[in-house]
Amino acid sequence: MAKNQPSPEIKFFSGQHIPVELHKVRMVQKLHLKPVEERLEAMEKGGYNTFQLNTRDIFLDMLTDSGTNAMSDNQISSMLQADDAYAGSQSFYRMEQAVRQVFGKHFVLPVHQGRAAENIISQAFIKPGDAIPMNYHFTTTKAHMELNGGEVLEIYTDEALKIKSNVPFKGNIDINRLNKVIEKYGAKHIPFIRMEASTNLIGGQPFSVQNMREVRAVAEKHQIPVVLDASLIGENAWFIKKREEAYQNASIAEILLTMCGLADIVYFSSRKVSSTRGGGICTDSEELYMKMRDLVVLYEGFTTYGGISVREIEAMAVGLYETTDETVIAQSPSFIEYAVNTLDSLGVPVVTPAGALGCHIDAMGFLPHVPQEEYPAGALAAALFIVSGIRGMERGTISSVRDKEGNDVLADVELLRLAFPRRVFTLSQTMFMIDRVNWLFQNRHLVGGLRFTEEPAVLRFFNGRLTPTSPWPQKLVEKFREDFGQSL
Ligand SMILES: *Cc1c(COP(=O)(O)O)cnc(C)c1O
Repeated sequence: MAKNQPSPEIKFFSGQHIPVELHKVRMVQKLHLKPVEERLEAMEKGGYNTFQLNTRDIFLDMLTDSGTNAMSDNQISSMLQADDAYAGSQSFYRMEQAVRQVFGKHFVLPVHQGRAAENIISQAFIKPGDAIPMNYHFTTTKAHMELNGGEVLEIYTDEALKIKSNVPFKGNIDINRLNKVIEKYGAKHIPFIRMEASTNLIGGQPFSVQNMREVRAVAEKHQIPVVLDASLIGENAWFIKKREEAYQNASIAEILLTMCGLADIVYFSSRKVSSTRGGGICTDSEELYMKMRDLVVLYEGFTTYGGISVREIEAMAVGLYETTDETVIAQSPSFIEYAVNTLDSLGVPVVTPAGALGCHIDAMGFLPHVPQEEYPAGALAAALFIVSGIRGMERGTISSVRDKEGNDVLADVELLRLAFPRRVFTLSQTMFMIDRVNWLFQNRHLVGGLRFTEEPAVLRFFNGRLTPTSPWPQKLVEKFREDFGQSL
């Protein structure tokens, strides 16, 4: 790589590793830390599902990084120059320019969020009986593909689902498995191969450029397009710079262009990648663009706004440029790394190496006495909220769907994800989280399981309601009072 771009790392005299915020806070929002009894009440009202909580009752909202990131001063100020127009808005052309420069793709279709891109791509390219190989599924991706009659094939490497690992690229596709599935299903039944940057559901784990090159070579041999889910691409690029020898001196901008250059279609959720709202689909191929364009008009809005407000489109453009700035994108993964390494040193089972998006606690390792049928990750999410006011997200069996016979499909991994929205939380808040997780770990025997009382048929994790299988939450509150007195 041509450019020599050292990382903006800060070393400490003491030898400690402390992640430093390379930004300052210029607008604040007051938070509320309520007494533990009130948090228990809120959890009961929310049916032991953290999606059903009201932010009024939450201290640190670590549910997701989707649409909850802090915007920069430049993003906020860009919103004031937004050009309101149904068609031909200048805001769109500025965003198109940003996509061309940052992702290197010529055509861009705006959509209202990431899953809308998945709807369009699935409708445009998937026919009943098709199979789509990928490193790992994402909830909304899988739902849209299956709705169009497609089958999701996860061809991750053996290392991907191991909780403890020091493999730097657990998000890689297994090339042998890729060759095998192409042989088995036939290239004409494979509309595309999907690679997800910073693979969300397995702990925000990245893939390497080397792996993507190998996937590309196989795809070209069989003339199968490659689709890149770039929702978490900034962090994946950062991990490539940190972990892939050949790219340690490359700039993030170069790595982003390299990754996108290996894909035929790149789609993204701007709720993540540029800290705003909306999303987009981009490609260099006019043929692929034309297959999707009219679906965007039908489902999203005219092709120069795609269901997004022009203010958000302006902020998207600035956010995309900022994704090439290492000091901007390093903040979230370096805080996650700090949290993961500290929890790991305390013996708390967490997914290693640290990934993007959040800190992922292994609920089966944390609560070995809670059977998987009683949703350990959901129970852990509820317990942590009660003892800390921190809201995390269950990523386990509750997040999967029942099979055709109505049986629970036990998830490969049961994770409690504590997301780090970009540039939102400080180091002391991170330390508070670590302290309470550690206390809960020492008292883990008090946490029991959950069962459903109301269960929607589609994406049940959003609106489902559950109840504890024994009065364990009350016992947890009693122990909290014993140890912490009147503390919040
Ligand atoms: C969040 C996410 C999506 C969906 O994006 P939304 O904007 O929430 O609809 C798709 N893929 C990945 C990898 C994501 O993280």
